[in-house]
Amino acid sequence: MHDGPAPPARARPVPRDEEVTRVVRCPFCRAADSRVVDSREADEGSAIRRRRACQACGQRFTTVEAPSLLVIKRSGVTEPFRRDKVLAGVRKACQGRPVTEDALAALAQRVEQDVRARGVAGIASDDVGRAILTPLHDLDEVAYLRFASVYRAFEFLADFEAEIALLRLEREPGPPADDRHEPEVHDLGPPAGAAVPAPPPTGARASGGAPAP
Ligand SMILES: [Zn+2]
Repeated sequence: MHDGPAPPARARPVPRDEEVTRVVRCPFCRAADSRVVDSREADEGSAIRRRRACQACGQRFTTVEAPSLLVIKRSGVTEPFRRDKVLAGVRKACQGRPVTEDALAALAQRVEQDVRARGVAGIASDDVGRAILTPLHDLDEVAYLRFASVYRAFEFLADFEAEIALLRLEREPGPPADDRHEPEVHDLGPPAGAAVPAPPPTGARASGGAPAP
């Protein structure tokens, strides 16, 4: 075993960790030997619920097994994906908004299914945030803006304005060309000190509130 350079260390991965996590210990007597009595899908297929009987003490217990999924934070630290963390973040964004607990739970479930369906073992926390944004946008626009402002680290008013402009664009698909001659601009009053002899421009919407040079 001294011939040549050392082989790549990962040539033969040790499956010990994986095996250990698969051992299900009886919650009553800690025995590792249990028999599966019944198993069915849980959470619309993202997990498996198993009814087990301990071979040592005979007690029955239930396990819910989902494939492990790690969230990789920006710092590089990893932690197991937890739906309740998604739920907590979204609930915070929805504070005071007309959003039910059921809708929050459904959203968190949708996010978990989305990220698990990618079939990866690890996902960046930014990607989890992105997976939250889409359904949250459908649920409540204000909550969406709040969440996006934190997640995308909005720093300037312009960041909010750009996001709100996008929301408006989505809501009003066609350009309101026929509304151009609405005289709503008069409500704002003339710009201070602007002695403009010319009639108000037709594109008054765009110049509302802007100081004249
Ligand atoms: Zn037992």
